[in-house]
Amino acid sequence: MTEQHPSEHTVQGIPVSALAEQFGTPLYLYDGDRLRSTYRELRDLLDPRIDIFYSAKANPNVSVCAVLRAEGAGIEVSSLAELVTALRAGARPEDVIFLGPGKSAEELRACLDAGVHAVVCESLEELTALDAMAPPEGVRVLLRVNPVFSNKGSRLSMGGKPRQFGIDEEILDGAGPLLRSLSRVRVEGVHAYMGTRILDADAVAANTRGILALAGRLSAELGFPLRTVDIGGGLGVAYFDNEKDLDVAAAAHGVNAEVAAFLGEHPGCRVITELGRYLAGWCGLYVVRARYVKQSRGEWFVVADGGTNHHMAAVGIGSFVKRNFPIRSLTRPEEPGRRPYTVTGPLCTPNDVIGKQVELPDVEPGDLLGVERSGAYGPSASPVLFLSHGHPAEVLVLDGNAHLVRRRDTVEDLLGRQILVEV
Ligand SMILES: *Cc1c(COP(=O)(O)O)cnc(C)c1O
Repeated sequence: MTEQHPSEHTVQGIPVSALAEQFGTPLYLYDGDRLRSTYRELRDLLDPRIDIFYSAKANPNVSVCAVLRAEGAGIEVSSLAELVTALRAGARPEDVIFLGPGKSAEELRACLDAGVHAVVCESLEELTALDAMAPPEGVRVLLRVNPVFSNKGSRLSMGGKPRQFGIDEEILDGAGPLLRSLSRVRVEGVHAYMGTRILDADAVAANTRGILALAGRLSAELGFPLRTVDIGGGLGVAYFDNEKDLDVAAAAHGVNAEVAAFLGEHPGCRVITELGRYLAGWCGLYVVRARYVKQSRGEWFVVADGGTNHHMAAVGIGSFVKRNFPIRSLTRPEEPGRRPYTVTGPLCTPNDVIGKQVELPDVEPGDLLGVERSGAYGPSASPVLFLSHGHPAEVLVLDGNAHLVRRRDTVEDLLGRQILVEV
């Protein structure tokens, strides 16, 4: 079925056709060297006093988490399964934080049992609930604040609005008595997350400045020690034609200056930045195989074996502007563009389009196409059960070797969880 093409795309020297043959398509391919180098470059740019935490929700694969953990990343988790993932990936509990607006009692209990660095509390009610269940030795808590200020540089901004996340800054101003009434919850820090997909270095620095100032003010006014501040992150990866990559060196430079000034006043405070997309996004390639190439009323379509069921983010919803993720022919990456193709998947909905009018070389049935920069918010943020195609395989290439790190769902995987009643 697969024909090796002389100039085809390779990952660490392995032809993509060989990987597609071995593991099948559609397939998520993670380049472990790229994952490491992204982390290392950022680590080198940031002040060593800033701890980098990986936000597991961006790509919760346990092996992806393990690669970042082995590089020195902490892990930020938001569900029981993510907590277990972080621990299985080898994270030390003191390098794990748990956040999320609707933690269950079971999840809070698991945080206490594991001894995570901190639980990030998102409401006064949660502080009270955690206080009631914490052991006598107590539990460290960061207050997630929904700040008054907002961030203009983010594609999804968090501050200044009514949100289910965090505690409004205005509410915290009057929360001193409640905080003092807690006996087992030790509030020792502040967390804020200003939004995602930030591509503007100045916005990253400005957020950091705002959050550090907020943390200092709240700790002084409410009388809790400032042992940890989580400055969020939200560093973006450019996907669409109208976007430019973040100048990460400039962003780090700005963050370092703010953090250095802050640590001058608060020596020994742990400073955490939590990043999902920026760490995981670059390394991932979503590989699909063209099944049919057809024309409809003058437009060329590639109907591939995978689509938005595995890569919802590629849709770029609600825009008349061409907003494609970078898509390439992996079979003929060196050939010049031949014509625009609309790349669709197997779903029975016209919205199953992962690329509109993508300029590609000739595409023939059996060719492999790849959506680049797709390591974050891929299958785990997509409707993988729609039309019951299930989760795609995931492969991590590490030190020149390809490892299957998630098996493709089989029909039995999907049906085995259903219960047929007698009718
Ligand atoms: C989703 C999320 C992150 C990760 O965001 P990215 O933009 O992927 O880096 C970090 N912190 C919080 C609170 C989040 O909800």
